[in-house]
Amino acid sequence: MIKRQRGTEDILPEESALWRHIEDTVHKTCRNFGYGEIRTPVFEATELFQRGVGDTTDVVQKEMYTFEDKGGRSITLRPEGTAAVARSFVEHSLFSNPQPTKLYYMMSFYRYEKPQAGRLREFHQFGVECFGAGTPATDAEVISLAYTLLKNLGVTGLTLNINSIGCPKCRSEYSKALTEYFSSNKDKLCDTCKERLNKNPMRIIDCKSEICKQVAAGAPKMLDYLCDECREHFEKLKKQLEIMGIEYEVNPKIVRGLDYYTKTVFEFIADIDGAKSTVCGGGRYDGLIEEIGGKPTVGIGFGMGIERLILQLKTQNSALNSISAAPEVFVAAIGEDAENFAQKLVFELRKSGVSAERDLTGRSLKAQMKYADKLSASYSIVLGDNEINSGEAVIKNMRDGSQNKIALSAQNIADIIHGGENYGN
Ligand code: ATP
Ligand code: MG
Repeated sequence: MIKRQRGTEDILPEESALWRHIEDTVHKTCRNFGYGEIRTPVFEATELFQRGVGDTTDVVQKEMYTFEDKGGRSITLRPEGTAAVARSFVEHSLFSNPQPTKLYYMMSFYRYEKPQAGRLREFHQFGVECFGAGTPATDAEVISLAYTLLKNLGVTGLTLNINSIGCPKCRSEYSKALTEYFSSNKDKLCDTCKERLNKNPMRIIDCKSEICKQVAAGAPKMLDYLCDECREHFEKLKKQLEIMGIEYEVNPKIVRGLDYYTKTVFEFIADIDGAKSTVCGGGRYDGLIEEIGGKPTVGIGFGMGIERLILQLKTQNSALNSISAAPEVFVAAIGEDAENFAQKLVFELRKSGVSAERDLTGRSLKAQMKYADKLSASYSIVLGDNEINSGEAVIKNMRDGSQNKIALSAQNIADIIHGGENYGN
């Protein structure tokens, strides 16, 4: 039998109800914050990610699905959203609209990683990008969007960590201090980080290897090297978060080790049985648009892993886990006339906005009722010759067992189910 590829998942109806709920909440929350949805292609030129994500990152160095297409081009399945959205911003001259340009996406992404809980090869992210506004209030708004979405979904147990990684001006002195620090510990670093030492020492702070993490714990902190402008930006951001009542922790270990990432970086971190996992990560990237060939334009955004969000909801035993696709009413029928009647009634009910179900496999009445139970239908109606002749039937509330006689019209049944009243004729 052919199986699905390692690190990919089928989302079955039981689970997709939760996905749809999350998606609906994302769309609503983004509309309230004035963000418009963008959808970009699954594949892009490899160069876009080499430049836009950075060729010293794990993503570009180890994780990209890159191949040559039949025309000899180097193609990569998108590993993240920011570079693609930035390309689109430039390509469609969105900078000529009144700024900022506020965009969000919900798309699949591809990374060749070792699959484990919350780490897949095809995964999904919700993310936002805000171009053309560089104030601390912009950063606070972006963070407050992620915060509000998590609140709206009832996610608890996440900590907001923030940091500033400065700007190219103040970072050069910091990079020197870092290179010096890591050089004296070079033997302990993993091979990748040994290479990063001269190219991009800040990335070492972000390395997953335990030993590198231990070494990095004693490294100099960017916060001690911020220039006046960057320090003021960070202080104002903290103030804005406080004004909104959003709690945060300053965490100097959060970095984005690329030149075009600037100032604010942040993560929402979950603690599942002592194991930390980043559900949402983002930051300011004032140099990115220029890096990919556009006019200098400031920007900030984040990406939130939907699979990790769902893992968090599951450990929380959230009520959302029981979102079901159960039918509102099951129509059982005995005999051919009743079956034909049921066929029409179910069709009419569905057209009236009621989710209705009936047996399609020729079950006995007893088996039909068992099936209705299994589907967790809220109501059931049994149709036989008597019901059809009299135009009345009994509707049973499957939750509390109560029964009522009702007129057999789709509109009447829809009113009962959706209004909860109007029993009888
Ligand atoms: P990590 O440190 O966990 O590898 P990252 O820094 O690579 O994360 P980003 O590139 O910032 O992650 O992506 C944003 C979010 O996307 C992450 O916080 C996470 O929730 C999610 N994510 C990243 N990689 C994966 C993956 N392979 N499978 C599922 N979700 C992922
Ligand atoms: Mg990663």
